[in-house]
Amino acid sequence: MVSCDMCGKEGEVVDAIVEGAVVQVCLSCSKHGSVIAINQPVVDKKIEQQREIEEKPEYVAVVISDFANRIKFGRERKGLKQEDLAQALAEKESVIHQLETGKLKPSFKLAKKLSVFLNIDLIETVEASSKIEKKVDFKGSAVTIGDLLKKE
Ligand SMILES: [Zn+2]
Repeated sequence: MVSCDMCGKEGEVVDAIVEGAVVQVCLSCSKHGSVIAINQPVVDKKIEQQREIEEKPEYVAVVISDFANRIKFGRERKGLKQEDLAQALAEKESVIHQLETGKLKPSFKLAKKLSVFLNIDLIETVEASSKIEKKVDFKGSAVTIGDLLKKE
């Protein structure tokens, strides 16, 4: 049995805020002027929502693992030099070089820019739980690269 934080009476209590602090008070105290009765402490609710997101991850967008080949392919298909691509995207040439050699993984933002500009798929949506196992789904313009990569 819980007791009221205000009057000490044992019995049914409700969560309430008294002078900024969360307390548990009995029903008669909860009707008191300085008591704001609340169903659930706000903090707990937030934690619960976060947990739900963490426990039920459905799909996440990730930069695909073979971004380097795809960027190179997309750039060459457009007949662009690394320098040209760098200029078009307002990036340094060294960044493009590092991307194409796989030394630098593009940020999500940059990957989006690249995929739009080069018309390639750089972002895939995967089940969060099977991020690693999932095979990359080649489609459309990237089929050539997909075929190249199939040889093991
Ligand atoms: Zn009370």
